[in-house]
Amino acid sequence: PITENAVVIVFGASGDLAKKSTFPALYTLWEEGLLPEKTRIIGYARSKLSEEKLDEQLFWKIRDDAEQGHRKEDPEKMKTFEGLVKYVQGAYDKDEAFEGLEKEIQIIEKDVFSGQKSNRISYLALPPSSFAQVSAMIKKHNYNPNQINRLVIEKPFGKDTEDCKKMMDSIAKDWEEEEVYRIDHYLGEEMIREIYHLRFANSFVEPLLSNKHVEAVSVVMKETFGAEGRGGYFDEFGMIRDVGQNHLLQAIAIMMMDAPTSLADDSLRSNKVNLLQAIPPVDPANLVLGQYAGAESGPREDGTGKAYLEDETVPDGSKTATFAQWAMQVDNERWKGVPVLVKCGKALDKGLMEMTFHLRPPPSNIFDVPKHSNSLVIRMNPEPAVFFKANMLKPGCRGTETTEEEIKWTVPGRKVAGDKLAYEVVLANIFKGDQSLFVREDEVIAAWEIFTPLLQHIEAPDGPAPTLYPYGSAGPKEQYEMEENFGLMSTRGS
Ligand code: NAP
Repeated sequence: PITENAVVIVFGASGDLAKKSTFPALYTLWEEGLLPEKTRIIGYARSKLSEEKLDEQLFWKIRDDAEQGHRKEDPEKMKTFEGLVKYVQGAYDKDEAFEGLEKEIQIIEKDVFSGQKSNRISYLALPPSSFAQVSAMIKKHNYNPNQINRLVIEKPFGKDTEDCKKMMDSIAKDWEEEEVYRIDHYLGEEMIREIYHLRFANSFVEPLLSNKHVEAVSVVMKETFGAEGRGGYFDEFGMIRDVGQNHLLQAIAIMMMDAPTSLADDSLRSNKVNLLQAIPPVDPANLVLGQYAGAESGPREDGTGKAYLEDETVPDGSKTATFAQWAMQVDNERWKGVPVLVKCGKALDKGLMEMTFHLRPPPSNIFDVPKHSNSLVIRMNPEPAVFFKANMLKPGCRGTETTEEEIKWTVPGRKVAGDKLAYEVVLANIFKGDQSLFVREDEVIAAWEIFTPLLQHIEAPDGPAPTLYPYGSAGPKEQYEMEENFGLMSTRGS
């Protein structure tokens, strides 16, 4: 149980993240008794909100989830929760506003916590451009060295190495690393957390994971939907920044890092950083970029199927990639020589997220099994599972023919990756003071260093133009050549 009383201050409470994710997750954790008993929440933003608007902003999603059957309806509990939340209107650049906020925090600490230790969690549900200013104001007015002080921010953490360092430095001026919680909600996903158990709660997986047995690694994330409606945001970032530099790289690091010595120290994050630092910047020679054109059968009734450039929120003539494939190497003893091929894209033929460790054939290969017919797959979508692709005796055969089978492990009730649970998991850890599911400063910088030269190459005036591919197709054909060049079985036609 968490013993400290917590006061959570959600800055930017009038925004989208607060409405759709932060308040609903806080409610779920509170309802399930996972928050300290005396928890109080302050929503802070500049907007003047009428009582009705405020109610809709803070609580609509929680009620709507109940109406949709995603959670139990409990008006009594809902009313109690509403009583724990207070909205404070104020600017982000005025000392008086933060002083007013401090008064509110102190009232809670005195009246509700009765002077016991307080955990002040400042959650910045704000555009990253305001992180520096707001975190400095909090430090100046709402930081109490006699209490616990935590600062929470969400990705994106900058746009490249330099930009990220600037953001990190502006925060590090006032905040210790132990106080900063950088959210990449992917780290809370059940199948990502499953990797730790798969690798370190068993003895039979770990010996396979090195260049001794693995010949290549492939990571694939495919989405069936395009950037519809959020083209403005997406266009500024593109596929590599949106998922490659963070979510997918995190999954790779967790699967390929060395074993942590303990869960109690920071060796888990240190080993991830070591792995990332062993990955040289991606060579632009190993890159395929694509952008979706309209569906071959024309726009669909639900509004999808239109070309990326036809989306009203996308700037005219944008060269932003909605599909990217690249290759990485891990230059350490364990993984040297094993290519890691990553592809991710929008408006593709299917929804898929999986990591495959393609194993070498058995040394003597007496059954002459084909290349890469053995593999270990960790799949998050569409069906969460871990499986080995294995060569078995063909059923009913009279000779020694082999057949490819899957030795599959699924967990009944495990759901396809969804932000909701992941979000709740990471939030719960902030209250506990456990930083293992958060991105450390050196980690986020190491991640940018892998991609910054590639992004500069792509974004140079004479940078490569993406190949167009039809909405709903498998993406640009060049991806297959690259797979073949790296000795992978081509996924052409699969
Ligand atoms: P948002 O709706 O654009 O902004 C949140 C609030 O911040 C606004 O309601 C506004 O409140 C204030 N704000 C807006 N522009 C500002 C500015 N230029 N300077 C200072 N304050 C400003 O953002 P969001 O979608 O909630 O996202 C918040 C953070 O979470 C961002 O870092 C975003 O990248 C990240 N994130 C969001 C999502 C999501 O699902 N939305 C998902 C992943 C990560 P007032 O004007 O009332 O003060």
